[in-house]
Amino acid sequence: NRCSKRNRIYFCIVCRCQAEKYRSDLPKASIIICFYNEAWSTLIRTVHSVLNRTPAQLLHEIVLVDDASELAHLQAKLAEYLWSLHPNITLVRLPDRQGLIRARLYGAHVATGEVLVFLDSHCEVNKQWLEPLLAKVADSRRTIAIPVIDMINSGTFEYKESSLVKGGFNWGMHYTWEHLPQDYFKDERSYIEPIETPTMAGGLFAVNRQYFREKGEYDPGLDTWGGENLEISFRFWQCGGRLEIIPCSRVGHVFRQRRPYGSPGGGDSMLRNSVRVARVWMDDYIQYFFQVQPAAASIDYGNITARIDLRKKLECKPFQWYLRIIYPEQVIPDKDHGRSRNLPPKYKAKFKRGGPIKNKETGLCIVSEDEVPVRNSLLTLGSCDIQKKYQVWNETEDKELMLVYNLCLDAQDGMRKNVYAKLGKCDGMKRTQAWVWSIKNYVYQLYNPTSGKCLAPVKDGDKYHLTLEICTLNNKLSAFMMEER
Ligand code: UDP
Ligand code: MN
Repeated sequence: NRCSKRNRIYFCIVCRCQAEKYRSDLPKASIIICFYNEAWSTLIRTVHSVLNRTPAQLLHEIVLVDDASELAHLQAKLAEYLWSLHPNITLVRLPDRQGLIRARLYGAHVATGEVLVFLDSHCEVNKQWLEPLLAKVADSRRTIAIPVIDMINSGTFEYKESSLVKGGFNWGMHYTWEHLPQDYFKDERSYIEPIETPTMAGGLFAVNRQYFREKGEYDPGLDTWGGENLEISFRFWQCGGRLEIIPCSRVGHVFRQRRPYGSPGGGDSMLRNSVRVARVWMDDYIQYFFQVQPAAASIDYGNITARIDLRKKLECKPFQWYLRIIYPEQVIPDKDHGRSRNLPPKYKAKFKRGGPIKNKETGLCIVSEDEVPVRNSLLTLGSCDIQKKYQVWNETEDKELMLVYNLCLDAQDGMRKNVYAKLGKCDGMKRTQAWVWSIKNYVYQLYNPTSGKCLAPVKDGDKYHLTLEICTLNNKLSAFMMEER
């Protein structure tokens, strides 16, 4: 058994997936690829990989939706190229820029296959990518089937597998990656099992076309880019659908450093879109979004009555249900406030995992400034030396990072200007001591949901101190990782 000889999880997954057999009566798929000013090579790589790696009997058609691109190579040259390539490719051109959400809606309306499969325009689908997605949707019409998104390096275009994670979101309404519980990988049989996920990244998924329609497709009021992934995630879960990640389906995606386009109307389409999503789906929990993004409370979000009517018509469940049942890992700032009253007199933390926390940029680890950490000790970056004591941080079930018994990483003071994060007595209240690993573009940051900020070292004379800053990938110093033991 090759699988047990290799200890790398990825090879084990590939090995097990290759042995999987899929039913012979799989439905046919319409592959929908929207693009705006995509590079020639990446667009063509996407199309060719689909043609090469999709069994002909499963490919109903490829629908390419051009969202009014201006680049010259996407005009006649592209049409001619596709014309000679394959009979079942349709290229539709939108007369003016609609943004990715309305472009996808357009593609969905043109498509006639039983299953819709959406892809970004800079992907490479992997071997046997489609069968597991179609098998899932065929077995369960209510399920959106999501491939594992592998990484294509935007500098070298190299393809690299990524690890299994779930989708979440933070109160700033950004998509986050959620780790699977550590014991998930104890049982090899679970490696290729579909994984229920609270949210999806957005670009790549398969869904029954009719069901997609019944559940309200997409909100056509969403502009340019952003927010639609949380919208469809909340809506499907709250209204009777499901979202599952299918480990045997793998699609590479080029993660770019920045998006090479702006919004036609100017402004921040992501924030405006998120407000529409939050107002329709999140009930009272919208307050946490407004706490993190105060500008969202007063933004003009257009008319949402059609979406509210849809929610009523589909008799969708409250957001509270979604958080409780589908996303119990989410930190809810207020609910957990005041919990201290109910804490047992001697609060005992349950540990999930532990290890030194390394700063990516400097290669240094988070340590206490005082040789023996005490309450109110400031934190700094020091050489990573596992032999030394006081380098191992334990993640507790309450999302704390505990350095020594009952002393936790506390953001309290770091939220004020020029004051630093420090060690505080662990309180289990999931507020200033709650830390969530947020992953964007494969950069891990330590996010504190209560403040909506990320842990970031600042240079202070010849050493560093830890403080809290608005999360941005521009600050290279804010990238950390736990060297798990
Ligand atoms: N896209 C589009 N119209 C737009 C913006 C984006 O058709 O106004 C397409 C884009 O070409 C890509 C997909 O939508 O195929 C998703 O956008 P992008 O890849 O920029 O998002 P990311 O993957 O960075 O989240
Ligand atoms: Mn993309």
